Amino acid sequence: MAVPVHTQPMDSLSRRDTLKLASLIAMTPLAEAFALPPDAAGWTHDVMRWMQVAFTEDNPVNADPAYWFALFRRAHADGVCLSAGGSVAFYPSKLPLHHRAKYLGDRDLFGEMVRGCRDLKLRILARIDPHAMAQEVFAAHPEWAACTEDGKPRRHWAAPDMYVSCQNGGFMFELMPQVLTEVTECYAPDGFFGNRWNGAGMCWCANCQRQFRAASGFDLPRSNETDDAIMRAYAAWDKDRRWAQYTLWNDAVKKVKPDGFFAPNYGMNDPRAQMPMVTIDRQGRNGLVPTWMNGKYAKIARSVTGTLPVAGLFGVGYEDDAYRFKDSVQSRPEIESWVHAGIVQGFRPWLCKFNAKVIDPRWISTVEKIYNWHWRNEKYLRNTQNLARVALVHSLPSQALARAKYDAAQNGYCQALVEARIPFEFIDDRLLDQAGRFRVLVLPNVMALSGAQCAQLADYVRRGGRLVATGETSLYEENGKRRANFGLAELFGCDFAGKIDEAVKNSYLTLRPPHPLLRGLEDAPRVVAPSQQLHVMAHRSGLQPLTLVPSYPDLPMERLYTLEPETTIPAVFCQTVGKGRVVYFPSNLDRIFWDILQGDHLALLRNAVEWAADESAPLIVTGPGLLDIAYWRQETSLTAHLLNLTNPMALKGPFREIIPMGPFEVSLRLPAGTAPKAVRLLDAGLAAQYRRDGDRLIVAVPQVALHEIVTVDLAP
Ligand SMILES: [Zn+2]
Repeated sequence: MAVPVHTQPMDSLSRRDTLKLASLIAMTPLAEAFALPPDAAGWTHDVMRWMQVAFTEDNPVNADPAYWFALFRRAHADGVCLSAGGSVAFYPSKLPLHHRAKYLGDRDLFGEMVRGCRDLKLRILARIDPHAMAQEVFAAHPEWAACTEDGKPRRHWAAPDMYVSCQNGGFMFELMPQVLTEVTECYAPDGFFGNRWNGAGMCWCANCQRQFRAASGFDLPRSNETDDAIMRAYAAWDKDRRWAQYTLWNDAVKKVKPDGFFAPNYGMNDPRAQMPMVTIDRQGRNGLVPTWMNGKYAKIARSVTGTLPVAGLFGVGYEDDAYRFKDSVQSRPEIESWVHAGIVQGFRPWLCKFNAKVIDPRWISTVEKIYNWHWRNEKYLRNTQNLARVALVHSLPSQALARAKYDAAQNGYCQALVEARIPFEFIDDRLLDQAGRFRVLVLPNVMALSGAQCAQLADYVRRGGRLVATGETSLYEENGKRRANFGLAELFGCDFAGKIDEAVKNSYLTLRPPHPLLRGLEDAPRVVAPSQQLHVMAHRSGLQPLTLVPSYPDLPMERLYTLEPETTIPAVFCQTVGKGRVVYFPSNLDRIFWDILQGDHLALLRNAVEWAADESAPLIVTGPGLLDIAYWRQETSLTAHLLNLTNPMALKGPFREIIPMGPFEVSLRLPAGTAPKAVRLLDAGLAAQYRRDGDRLIVAVPQVALHEIVTVDLAP
């Protein structure tokens, strides 16, 4: 099972990202069968709420396990994750080089916690974090430390008395398997959770140099490496080493406890790994990130994990690329909205608390509130199927090719779909053979597609599927090599003319109604043009509903006019192909929307999906404000989630308060063969007013505070 979610720890090095991404390109040959894990109903499916306590070295003298047991009970946690070892051992390890916590003394903090949690019948994951090495370990084995590019041992960037451990050295490949064995023998946790298990960036130690040269014939790439062949060789080798490390660790656990496992944070980016659960570590909103982003992470994870349980890690403090305040506490609305944004889209909550000694207790009542809500409503959160009909194609090779452009295009389209209240999922580009369950696939600047993938998409459309694509979609092969023409030229209805204008200023789109693509813009003669424009040659003549007004000066004001106020240059292609429909924007319409959030662009992005879909959405919500929505099925019920994101700083920015919104009308399409028995508003705790309208159920929702769920119990 593979989880190529494009998330990485926030303080990771940019160099590491580059290499990590390169390794993603080299990942799975697309021809290789990509199997979803067997949906075994193991115990991980039963754990709805997780709580993690990551100890600090002083916790053995100042942490009170009873305090935590009481919280686990009050919050109805089902599973816990507790620090066992790695960089620091929180139990009396007999391994001489397993550095014991400085203040451990004769205490066994991990063991005490394990015993207490077992009494509470909680599932237990032991946390391992091996990315740093203590002084005495370095003294005994200096060759286990990672090295900087000049070959010097790399001190830890935040704790300079420690060293960063080499991901390919003895610390990971000799000591850690012994740690996993010892912890399993002594405590028999249900499994292990590995944080920063794969090191902390590239290592230039002698061992890595030797291993890489033996594997590839090259020297390790330098930070300014431009040779693609070396980068690819490195990516392939790194992937190979991680697989070796993962199997070594997982086997070490299973040898002692056959039903145990090692679960790396973010999953294992390799389809050979069969893991019983996945964790996604995006602990909070920061800066200008919109709250719905946590739901996007859940969707992307699910695009490869299927119905495997995915836990969404959340913290209570603030962190971003520049700052980490792990002992801080964010406001209740901020924490609540982020966690619920994940729950709406299928995450199971996993509190990630660092430091067992509570300095600022303001988070506790917030977490209890969230967890109790989740526990009360648990029956309706055991989702078996998402009913969205629109899916964004997620493509790691495209992301690797031009990450900033790719992410902005994807986020722009997500923002538009959230604002338009069109329920949507993600589909991994390696699983396009499963596209048939969606009515519309959206490809936001999905640059890199193999010939086989293009053929799959063409087949999907011919058989009635619908496609919306933007920008450089299909202009590159899966390995990043540019094509002479779009791989999807036939579907787009145009050929690439070999030129892309970047950073175009003061250009416009002429609107030529009537056309469904222009809904809501009937009174607009022209709107802002995207800043990236691809030159294309149309396959057929005829005016498209959007044409280009080429750039002209925006200063001095006297020059702000054009002798070309209109052209016939198409800015969109809308056509039917076989039984399907295709909309292609030869521009960065989605990315410019993410940058400047123009309402006109929102209308175009929304209309493109609606025209392509040509059916009423499975879930339609009318009423005021900004919502993220989702439509789910459980074994004997349906749920429509309404997450109220209306806020003075709603589009990007922190939540200071929850502002109730309403009234809403929620229209659900009932899946064929289902009949409603009872309809309720879960958060309000009321029976809902509703009526039938053909195959739809129209439900009144008077008000939503943060998160309301319309539940429909189905007749047997
Ligand atoms: Zn190394």
